[in-house]
Amino acid sequence: MVKVTVWNEFLHEKEHEEVRNIYPDGIHNAIAEGIRTSEIEIQTATLEEPEHGLTEEKLNNTDVLIWWGHMGHDRVDDAIVERVHQRVMDGMGLIVLHSGHFSKIFKKLMGTGCDLKWREAGEKERIWTVNPAHPIAAGIPEYVTIDHEEMYGEHFDIPAPDELVFVSWFEGGEVFRSGCTFFRGQGKVFYFRPGHETHPTYYHPHVLQIIRNGVKWAAPSEAGKPVRGNHQPLEPIKGQA
Ligand code: ZN
Repeated sequence: MVKVTVWNEFLHEKEHEEVRNIYPDGIHNAIAEGIRTSEIEIQTATLEEPEHGLTEEKLNNTDVLIWWGHMGHDRVDDAIVERVHQRVMDGMGLIVLHSGHFSKIFKKLMGTGCDLKWREAGEKERIWTVNPAHPIAAGIPEYVTIDHEEMYGEHFDIPAPDELVFVSWFEGGEVFRSGCTFFRGQGKVFYFRPGHETHPTYYHPHVLQIIRNGVKWAAPSEAGKPVRGNHQPLEPIKGQA
């Protein structure tokens, strides 16, 4: 059983009717319902809850955190960002979606500006699988088409990903590294691009399958905790008294 927490700032849905019409219960609940299987235990958290819904207890009880944010990045408390960061270092998986590229936690984990090119024209996006052997691409065809999405284009200011799984092409001509993995401490981070709030992207079966695969991939491994600092030799070193 993988314990997943879906975090959404949950502001657009409250403030914009257009978004509320697509996600009446919020993006977090659409994702939670969409990825649910018997092997996943899901809870949600939102910005306006106390501690943004990310208490120590809840995070300690989370194997993989999914993050959707946009207009409220600055409202996320630095202490909570630090808490999430520490959990990632200790092995919690993190899936950052769409406009989460500018979230405090993603920027902190990347160490770069994370800026990109964008356009809201509701154009076609074709997501190409460029690493078909990767577990996050399991069951995903050669390409997935989303009829209407916001465009994100290169250059995407991130460090070179540890693994590149998907690349997007847009009708207007741009391309984008839309499925990237990063290893940070003992934690695994997956950035996945689609999911602009005015399009029903989080009902798309392949988008949901990719997030579900991401959860499975990012779940903590059983590796022992690394030991650091000054270290006594495991066996006698020749030539030393
Ligand atoms: Zn967007």
